[in-house]
Amino acid sequence: MVDRGRGHPLGAPVPQMKEAGLRPVFALVDANSFYASCERVFRPDLAGRPLVVLSNNDGCVVTRSAEAKKMGIKNGTPAFRLAGLIRSGALVAFSSNYELYGDLSARMMRTVAGMVPRIEPYSIDECFADLTGMPGDLAPLLVQIRARVLKWIGIPTCVSCAQTKTLAKLANHLAKTYPALGGTLDWTALAAPRREKALSLVPVGEVWGVGGRSAEALRQMGARTALEFARLPASAVRRRFGVVLARTHAELNGLPCIELESAPPPRRQIMRSRSFARPCGEFQDVAAALASHTAAACRQLRSQRLAARAVSVFFQTNVFDPKARQCFAEQSCGLSRPSADTLVLTEAAVKAARRAWREGFAWKKAGVMLSGLEPEDEAQPDLFEAQSDARSKSLMATLDRLSGRYGRDVLQTGTERASNGWAMARALKSPCYTTRLSDLPRVS
Ligand SMILES: [Mg+2]
Repeated sequence: MVDRGRGHPLGAPVPQMKEAGLRPVFALVDANSFYASCERVFRPDLAGRPLVVLSNNDGCVVTRSAEAKKMGIKNGTPAFRLAGLIRSGALVAFSSNYELYGDLSARMMRTVAGMVPRIEPYSIDECFADLTGMPGDLAPLLVQIRARVLKWIGIPTCVSCAQTKTLAKLANHLAKTYPALGGTLDWTALAAPRREKALSLVPVGEVWGVGGRSAEALRQMGARTALEFARLPASAVRRRFGVVLARTHAELNGLPCIELESAPPPRRQIMRSRSFARPCGEFQDVAAALASHTAAACRQLRSQRLAARAVSVFFQTNVFDPKARQCFAEQSCGLSRPSADTLVLTEAAVKAARRAWREGFAWKKAGVMLSGLEPEDEAQPDLFEAQSDARSKSLMATLDRLSGRYGRDVLQTGTERASNGWAMARALKSPCYTTRLSDLPRVS
């Protein structure tokens, strides 16, 4: 945990400055080949050697080190195809260890949180930070963040910053692609011609928020690179692709549209977070919020027929209150087997929260991230656990059926029910006329 209360070395929090009309600046810290890098933290002898991490049951490749990418190994390659390389020692393979990855992720986030006014974890290996209004040249700060995460956690990252999140993502991609940049790129310091050159180097499909289908359509419109995309008329983009891609287009042109907390969902993780209606100092309140987020994340998990390997939780104080003692707490908990069971994952989330807990802070926001996602049917049940597995499945199916019929809160875990101190004020909400029996409109 990082206590940022006693005079942050890098300046005051952001919002007052935003009000003062400063232009926003977002940083992005993104680990390089995260799972592979985690494995190397405790096996420094593997530095520079081609390395892959395999999915559950050692099925296929999910992460490759830069060296493995150079060998032409693709994500999704079945492990048996690589057996020869692995046996000869030309390639090192690891089974996935989400407990380790989750914990190193938590340490990485805490390290970054201690260096900037505000962070927002985005996925297991990346977080955005709000640098708006930070004084002076930002490039040295980016270098410092990168160096500290490497030194304290052992994970190599690329660190970028720009006026919009989409440009921060793009700058990070450039920092990863061009080693000469030294792993950092301050987009805000680039002169216009260099920005254009940089945009022209990035294929349109690499732009954050441009999906495969949009990329194809954009190429057909003659926009093969990020620069060509940025130069399309905004009205044409909006008409052809709708508001979401119009936002991406505006962001590429330096117009911030995506707030720190409303980024499109990351791949391969499920994340839920929300601010509390009022600050909470009791463990019970924070745990209830986390349980509620876990329940929602699990519903999504099951609706996509996935199971998770690890749960990470975080909670933080109100960064907008200059008088509050600041703290960002995060912990994760791995599961022995992948699960989509609300009860199992809630227990893990509460366990992680207990480890992260600190007394004496006024918490303002909490979030849950499920990682190590894989198709539920790939998660092979243990012979001895097959029975409890079937019970859990049927219990969850019943839960989903009931909440589909009577509303989401009809059945909650005890932890979730124990407090609603964190919940948003909802006194003005209209009844759920169509989804809850109790809210059915009455006709006399
Ligand atoms: Mg990464």
